Amino acid sequence: MNGYYTEPSRELKVYGEYDVVVVGGGTAGVFAAISAAHSNKSVLIVEQLGGLGGSSTAGLVTPLMHNNIKGNPFCSYIATEVNTLLDEYNGLNMREGKNSRDFDPLVLGIVFEELCVKYGVGVLLHTFFSDSIVEDGSVKGIIVENKAGRQVILGKVFIDCTGDGDLCVRSGAEYTKGDPETGKNQPMSLRYIISGVDNEKFAAHIDELEKMTGLGGGHSWLPALGVDRRREYSATHLVDEAIKNGDLEEEDSFYWTVGSLANRVGSLAVNSPEFFDRLDATDPDVLTFTQLDGKRRILKQLLFCKKYLKGFDNAYVSSISSIVGIRESRRIKTKYVVSGEELLMHKKFDDAFCMSNYPVDIHGKKLSFDEKTKQIDDQKPYFELPFGTLVVSGFENLLVAGRCIGADFVAQSTIRVQESVRSSGEAAGIAASMMIDQGVSSNDLDGRLVRAEMEKRGAEFSVIE
Ligand SMILES: Cc1cc2nc3c(=O)[nH]c(=O)nc-3n(C[C@H](O)[C@H](O)[C@H](O)COP(=O)(O)OP(=O)(O)OC[C@H]3O[C@@H](n4cnc5c(N)ncnc54)[C@H](O)[C@@H]3O)c2cc1C
Repeated sequence: MNGYYTEPSRELKVYGEYDVVVVGGGTAGVFAAISAAHSNKSVLIVEQLGGLGGSSTAGLVTPLMHNNIKGNPFCSYIATEVNTLLDEYNGLNMREGKNSRDFDPLVLGIVFEELCVKYGVGVLLHTFFSDSIVEDGSVKGIIVENKAGRQVILGKVFIDCTGDGDLCVRSGAEYTKGDPETGKNQPMSLRYIISGVDNEKFAAHIDELEKMTGLGGGHSWLPALGVDRRREYSATHLVDEAIKNGDLEEEDSFYWTVGSLANRVGSLAVNSPEFFDRLDATDPDVLTFTQLDGKRRILKQLLFCKKYLKGFDNAYVSSISSIVGIRESRRIKTKYVVSGEELLMHKKFDDAFCMSNYPVDIHGKKLSFDEKTKQIDDQKPYFELPFGTLVVSGFENLLVAGRCIGADFVAQSTIRVQESVRSSGEAAGIAASMMIDQGVSSNDLDGRLVRAEMEKRGAEFSVIE
């Protein structure tokens, strides 16, 4: 077969036909589906995992980062309902009121699923998007695979919320990936949760270390441990000692944060181990390696905590992310591609769907947040994201939302956090329904109308004093 096999053509069953088809049920996908359903559209989310939320739930990415604008305005009306339900289910640490960052990922997933059901969004789990049917610049349908075999789903508008731009790329869209200087994507991580921790003992130990070393703990969520190579923290010497003793690996010292987990007594969310070399998230061998090697390193990290820190005598790993934590993979070419420079210069747009002042957040062995690109200091210290970053170039009815929207490497590092991802999903869902109602293509839709509708529904776009 010379390394290739020609697949014979075959007739596929049509699973269904929808106004809006959302591929990928992570944060962006959930917000896109709900906002389209609120416009009385039939909507289906196709998701490969057994639940919704993607990185924020299966990936255990808690906390949700703030946009760093005074008052943390939610550029999303759906976020308010999500937080209210999360709090009702004891899944939000209301320490910071409605602005709490700290959530329980398991509860968030249930909240996402409940809201989708409440608003009539069709949810198709355990289903992998594999191909796209494109005619004359329009996506007519998608091909999915699941236990029932290979099937087709038809739709009027399609939104790619896969994080990796799978639908866009299979449809033939252009994209870039990685740092233009090195070609490398951002580092990946495999997050996990440690339970059975004596939090008070651990917090007292961190205090003790801080007093002894005169150095900070390295993290603002308490009790917390923070280690990275940008500077010395109170526990850095213990990590160095463990590396010398063969109890940890060099990689463990570059980025490792541990923080509290909303309302789970004795549990800590861990942002580590991090990977720095094999980073192509669209290569299944890389994903497999990261998942397997990550688990091995997680157990070593637990043993480190038990041997070198106080409060971990009865600790155990209670959960490991079922997906690899991907910060950046493909970035889709859209009608407008924002640059890091524009964001740092606080550029504003009249069709903006998101305001943020989250910093450039590029990980690596030499962490930089980012030395080359400094924010300007002005009266309106935030940037905005224009609607054009969601409009996939070369297509009539294809939008993209989430961490792979139109942005260069530096810009993507700031807009990948959950608050901006929520806004992009919400805007894409509203845009999809407007395209259907107005009978216009994504290129011809006026993004100012999308913004106006978000505001009408309750999204906040002002700096709250
Ligand atoms: C290690 C790490 C730490 C982070 N820390 C923070 C933090 O502290 N705070 C913060 O706010 N943000 C943080 N982020 C960023 C943030 O969590 C993500 O960028 C964001 O959640 C991405 O949302 P998304 O909807 O774009 O993608 P995802 O949440 O990744 O969703 C994509 C969904 O699409 C599905 N999918 C993909 N391909 C297919 C396919 N072919 N067929 C069917 N389904 C498919 C996936 O299963 C997934 O559910 C972090 C990210 C990582 C990786």
